[in-house]
Formats: sequence, C-alpha cells, structure tokens
Amino acid sequence: MTDRCNFRCRYCMPREVFGPDHAFLKRAALLSFEELTRVAGIFIGLGVRKIRITGGEPMLRSGLETLVETIARLEGLEDLSLTTNGSLLTLSRARALRRAGLRRLTVSLDALDDTTFRAMNDVDFPVAAVLEGIEAASAAGFAPAKINMVVRRGFNEHQVVPMADHFRGTGHILRFVEYMDVGATNGWRPEDVVPARDIVERIGREWPLEPVDPNYPGEVAKRFRYRDGAGEVGLIASVTQPFCGGCTRARLSAEGSVYTCLFASRGCDLRSALRAGATDEALVARIDSLWRRRDDRYSELRSRVRPGAAKIEMSYIGG
Ligand code: SAM
Ligand code: SF4
Repeated sequence: MTDRCNFRCRYCMPREVFGPDHAFLKRAALLSFEELTRVAGIFIGLGVRKIRITGGEPMLRSGLETLVETIARLEGLEDLSLTTNGSLLTLSRARALRRAGLRRLTVSLDALDDTTFRAMNDVDFPVAAVLEGIEAASAAGFAPAKINMVVRRGFNEHQVVPMADHFRGTGHILRFVEYMDVGATNGWRPEDVVPARDIVERIGREWPLEPVDPNYPGEVAKRFRYRDGAGEVGLIASVTQPFCGGCTRARLSAEGSVYTCLFASRGCDLRSALRAGATDEALVARIDSLWRRRDDRYSELRSRVRPGAAKIEMSYIGG
C-alpha cells in the first residue's frame, strides 16, 4: 500500500536511515486503486487465491477500505488479509474493513511492556493502544486474529513467555518471527536471531506444546498447540529452517514492481507497462515469464551470499 510508516522498528526502518530527509515514494508513483485492482485481477486470473495487504503501514493509505471492498469482490479470490502495526486500528475502522470484505487481520506486537516495545519500534506508542486494536479486531469479527512478534536477541526475548501467557486461551494465534536479514539497513547479525527451536523450548517449559500439521501445503508458520487446550502458537523460522522450496508468494511494491522473493534485489516493473496502455494479455505474459524463470532461494543460500549484497527493504515490498 505504501512504503511509509508511523513506526520506526529498528529491524525494519531504522530511524538513522528512514529519517526526516528520507525520499519516500511520491503519491503519483504509487499504483492507484484502479491500477491495483487491475493487477490483482490479473494475478487472480493466473491462479492467485490469497492476497495480503501490507506495507509500510497499510492503514496510513487513505481510502484503504474502498480498495478492500473492490478487491474482495474480485471473482476467484478466496482470502483477503491485512497486516498492520495496530496503531490505527480503532473499532470503527476494524468494522469498516470487515464490512468491506476483509477476511483476516494480523497485528504486529513485539512486547507487552512499553519500554521494550519502544526499544523495538523506536516510537512512543503505548502497548495498551495496540492491545485495544486487537480487541477492536475481535469485536469486529476478526477472531481469531494473528499476532506477529519479531524476536530479537537481547531486545525482547524476555517477552516470549509473557506474550505467550497473555495470548494463551484468548483464541488469538501468537506467531514468533525469527529476526530476518531483510533489506540492507537494519545491521542484522546472525547472533541477533533467537532460533524458533529455542522459543518452542522456552514456552514448552511453562506449558507443554505439541506440533500440529500445517493447515495447507506451503504454510510458512510451523504450528504448535498447548497440550492443556489453551490454543496454538506459530513459529516463522525463515532463518534457521528456510522454507524457500514451498514458497509460492509474489510481492507487489507500492509502486507496482513484482518481486519473487522477500530478499530480492530487483523487481519487475509493471507500472510502466500499465501506464503505457499495455493490454491484460501483455501483462499476463510478463508475469508468467517472470514466474517461470523464478529460482529464488535466498534463505537456503544465506550463508553463501556476499554480506552487504543489495536487497530491497521490507517496508517497500511488505512483510
Ligand atoms: N507495518 C505493518 C506491521 O508492522 O505489521 C505491516 C508491514 S511489516 C513490514 C510486516 C511484518 O514484517 C511485521 O509483522 C513485522 O514485524 C515484520 N518484520 C519487519 N521487519 C522484519 C525483520 N527484519 N525480521 C522479521 N520480521 C520483520
Ligand atoms: Fe512500520 Fe511495520 Fe516496518 Fe515496524 S515492521 S517499521 S510497523 S512497516
């Protein structure tokens, strides 16, 4: 939706890089709602069944609910979801998104205490307001919601058990995300990653867990359930247990480039073709050939990739 955000999570948009002088995309560079709807329709025609709206912070883009309504009506689409930092998720917006046809919501939350939350996102925003956003999502019918927690060694790892405790028994599904080397600005080091295996162990010591089968082939989160019946958690272990082989995702940047990998350095520009009057057939051919040539498996090759290699920022192509 946008490469802009009202947070400055250090693992995504460090303030030193994404400061007041940062050149964000200009309005005219963003795909319009008409262009987005057309591209979505073309992807659905090629077999896409699920669309996730993200960013940057997608709820900053004005008129979002209108776009959701149009995309939700596209024939052949089976799932439409949104990932947000929850800062703008009031009850009325949650209801409007639900009415517009959004099916699922993921809210990111890295800690339950304000000091740790701030150390992660580098803004002054109360945890309580994000928790209210999650409650608003539930009240609007997005239950269960998913909660994403990026776990970073030395920053918020002590919050793993309190977060599990908080969301156990609520029906919401807490997902622990390994800190990834997306982009080139977050200064990622392998030692900053808390492996999913350790996270499962830490939680399991408090409340025994057992693995659950994936909901569908290619599901990125490994699922575990509490043996006492208090629900489930997910682990996104893209660093320590890469899932490139099962990845079927394409990402569309806010300015209309398609990326076949979260760690790609280059995308395929659709906007020029769209604005030059390309036919649907021409756009289909372009995407089709991109997809057939795709051989991305960055996470599997990570240790062999030259450090400092150019990679697109996650705020630009969405997480
Ligand atoms: N602003 C929205 C949000 O934070 O939910 C949507 C965009 S954000 C890029 C999508 C997801 O990517 C969030 O759950 C965020 O925590 C996650 N993310 C961002 N940078 C990451 C990193 N370096 N490693 C792992 N996850 C990351
Ligand atoms: Fe913004 Fe989401 Fe990136 Fe945090 S993770 S800076 S909330 S886009």
